[in-house]
Amino acid sequence: MIKPDRIVTTTCPYCGVGCNLQLHVKDEHIFKVTSPFDSPVNHGNLCVKGRFGYDYVYHPKRVTTPMVRRYLLEGNKEIGNQGLGNRKDAPELGRNSLIPNYLITNPSTPWDWVETDWDTALNITAENLVRIYKRDGSDAMAVYACAKATNEDNYLLQKMYRAIFRTNNVDHCTRLCHAGSVVALQQATGSSAMSNTASQVIQNDVFIVTGSNTSENHPIIALQMKEAVRQHGAKMIVIDPRRIELVDFAEMWLPLKPGTNVPVFSAMAQVILKEGLTNPEFIQNRTEGFNDFIESLDKFTPEYAEEISGVPAEDIRKAARMYATAKKAAIYWGMGISQLSHGTASALALINLAFLTGHIGREGTGLNPLRGQNNVQGASDMGCMPFHYPGYMRVDNPDNRTKWEKAWNIEPGGLSLKLGLTTTEILSHAHEGGIRALYIMGENPMMSEPNLNETRKHMEQLEFLVAQDIFMTESAAFADVFLPATPFAEKDGTFSNTDRRVQRVRAAHAPRGQARVDWQIICDVAQRIETKLGVDSAYWKYSHPEEILREMGSVNPDYAGITYERIVKLGLIYPVPTLTHPGTPTLFTESFPRGRGKFHPLDYVPAMESVDDEFPFILTTGRVLEHWHGGSMTRNSSLNEAYPEARVEVHPADAEIHGIRNGDPVTVKSRRGEVVLRVTVTEKTSVGVVFIPFHFVEAAANLLTNDALDPQAKIPEFKACAVQVFPARKKDLGNPNAVVNRGRY
Ligand code: SF4
Repeated sequence: MIKPDRIVTTTCPYCGVGCNLQLHVKDEHIFKVTSPFDSPVNHGNLCVKGRFGYDYVYHPKRVTTPMVRRYLLEGNKEIGNQGLGNRKDAPELGRNSLIPNYLITNPSTPWDWVETDWDTALNITAENLVRIYKRDGSDAMAVYACAKATNEDNYLLQKMYRAIFRTNNVDHCTRLCHAGSVVALQQATGSSAMSNTASQVIQNDVFIVTGSNTSENHPIIALQMKEAVRQHGAKMIVIDPRRIELVDFAEMWLPLKPGTNVPVFSAMAQVILKEGLTNPEFIQNRTEGFNDFIESLDKFTPEYAEEISGVPAEDIRKAARMYATAKKAAIYWGMGISQLSHGTASALALINLAFLTGHIGREGTGLNPLRGQNNVQGASDMGCMPFHYPGYMRVDNPDNRTKWEKAWNIEPGGLSLKLGLTTTEILSHAHEGGIRALYIMGENPMMSEPNLNETRKHMEQLEFLVAQDIFMTESAAFADVFLPATPFAEKDGTFSNTDRRVQRVRAAHAPRGQARVDWQIICDVAQRIETKLGVDSAYWKYSHPEEILREMGSVNPDYAGITYERIVKLGLIYPVPTLTHPGTPTLFTESFPRGRGKFHPLDYVPAMESVDDEFPFILTTGRVLEHWHGGSMTRNSSLNEAYPEARVEVHPADAEIHGIRNGDPVTVKSRRGEVVLRVTVTEKTSVGVVFIPFHFVEAAANLLTNDALDPQAKIPEFKACAVQVFPARKKDLGNPNAVVNRGRY
C-alpha cells in the first residue's frame, strides 16, 4: 500500500454538490482520492467523477507554457489587426488537431503557436487589450468568467473589466444553464439561489424532481433523495420527459413532452386552487399579485395540459394533491426547466406552486434549482454577470455603483451604469463596431454555445482573443494568446456549492511546468494594463487569495462574515452577515429579500421548433455520469475509457418504425447542423424524443441545438429542437472499425 506524503482536504471540481475530497499525494502526484465521513455535504460518499476523475491534472496534452501566435512575436500585427475572420484555412476543429505540439510545429499556417515566456505573453495580452480599448472604447471589450474557477479568481476578473475597461460585458456559463431560474427567483423573491440545503431532502414528506437527471448530474444529492424515500418515507414525484433512474424510486412519474412545463405546473396550480388546498395565511401575509395570478389560471385545466404535454389529467390532479397536502414539500429542478426559450416562465410556474401552498421558508420545504458546475453559484455571487456586481447588486443602480467605486478607488461616476451583454450576445456582437477583444477564462463556447456552426463564424470575427485555460480547448484553438492556468488541485481559494455553502479549495502540489494560478495571472495582466493606461496599480497586489475574498466581503453582506479560518473544516452557508453569524441554511423564514413573494401570471408559449414530417423527433441534450460539460477535464482523464463515445438514445418503438438497431451508426440532423454517432435503443427516452449528451466534440450536440433565446434570461433553448434521424451515409462513416462520432464544423 502506498503511504502518502500528505493528504490534502479540498472540494470537488465537478458538480455543484461540492463534495469534500481528500487528495492523497505522493512525490508531488495525486494517486488516490477519498472523502471524510464527517463531511456534512457528502458523508464520505463520492461519485465516479470525484473518485477517479482527477488524472487530467497530469495529462500530456495539458498546456503549461505560455503560447502566442507566431505573427505576434514577429511584430507582424497585420493578421491579428484584420481579425480572425481572415484566417480562412484555420485547422478543422477536432481533438486530434488540438495537441499543442501539432500547432507549434505545423509550418504551413502563418498563425501557428509559439511557446514563449510569461513576460512576453502578458505584455502582448495587455498591449492588444489596451490598443483596442483606446481605439474602440469600453463597448469593444468583453470577458467570459469561469464557473470552474474559484470565487477569488472570478471576483478579480470581473473587477478587471469593470474597474479598468469600464464595461459590464461580463458573463459566464450560468447564462447557459440556470439563467431562467436566476431571473425567475429574482423577480419573485429577490434572491437567486437554492432556498434550502440539499441535505434537507430527508425532511421532506413530498418532493418534486423536475428537469433534472439527478442521479447523473448531482449523484450525491440523488443518494440523499433515495434515502429520503427508502428510510424516511418521503414521496417523490418525477416530472421529466426521460425515464431517469429516480423514476424507480418515485411514487409518480409524469413524462411530459419537452418544453411543456408551464401548462403542467399551471394545471397543478389550478387543481390546488379549485380543490381548496392553498395556504391562505401564507398567501395573505407573504405574497402579492394573487388575484391577477388566479385569473390567468382559468385556461390551464388538467385536460388542456394533457393535450399539450401528454401527461394524463388524472396524474396531474394526483401530483397536485400530493404536493399541496404534504406538511413539508419541496421542489428540486435542473436545466430541463431553465434551458428553454421560456425558461424563466417555467421556473416562475414552480415558484407559483410554492407560494400557493406555503411550501417555502421552513426547513424541509423550498425552491431548489440544482446548480451545475462546482462554482457556478460562486461565480454568480462574485458578479460575473452583465447585470450585477458581486452580491447581485444591480449595475444600473447608482447607489450600488458608489459602493464599488469606493472599494476599487474609482472616481465618482466612473463605473458604467449600462447593462452588459450576455455570453450569447457577446459573440453575436463580434463584428466591426461591436465586440473586438474577448478574454476567456476556462470557458469553452465552441462546445457550450448552441448552434456551433454560427458560433464558429462569430469567433472568427474577433480581432483579439485571450484564452486562459489548462488545455487547448476547441475555443482556445481560436486564440491569439494562451495563458496556462492551474486546475483545482494546484490552487487555493473557495468554491460556493449549489446550496450556498462556501468551502475551501486547497493546493495538493505546486503548479506543473510554468502554469500559474488564475488570480495571479489576472493581477499580472491588470497591472500591465494599468501601467499602459497610466493608472496606479496598487489595487492589484494581493499576497493571498483570502485578501481577495475579504475585499469582496467588505461590500457584499452575504459574504461579510466568511473568513478562511471560519471555513477551515465545514464551510459556511451564506448569508453570513457578521464574523460571528453561524450561516443561513434556510432562506425566507420571515420575509423575502424583495419584501413579499410575487405571483406571476403565465401564458403557455411552445418551444420555438416543433416536429413536422421533415424533422419528426424532438432532441433533448444533457450530461452523463462519467463526463462533465465540454469534456476538457473528464475526456482527458481515465473516465473517458469508461464512456468513450457519444450515443444517441432512441426509444424502441421509434427504432422499430425507422428500422434502427442498437449500435447502428446514424446521422442526426437539425436545421443547423448534423452529427454522426451510434444509437442506444432504450426506454430511458420517450417516444418521439431522442437524447444526446453534450460532452463529445466528435459528435457535438450543440451543432444541432437551437440558439433561440428566452427573452428575459437570454438562455438558449438547448432542451428542445426538431431533428431527423437516419442511417449514416457510407461517406460519413470513415473507417468502419473506428468510433464513428463525427461532428461537422
Ligand atoms: Fe464531485 Fe458532484 Fe460527484 Fe460530489 S457528486 S463527487 S461534487 S461530481
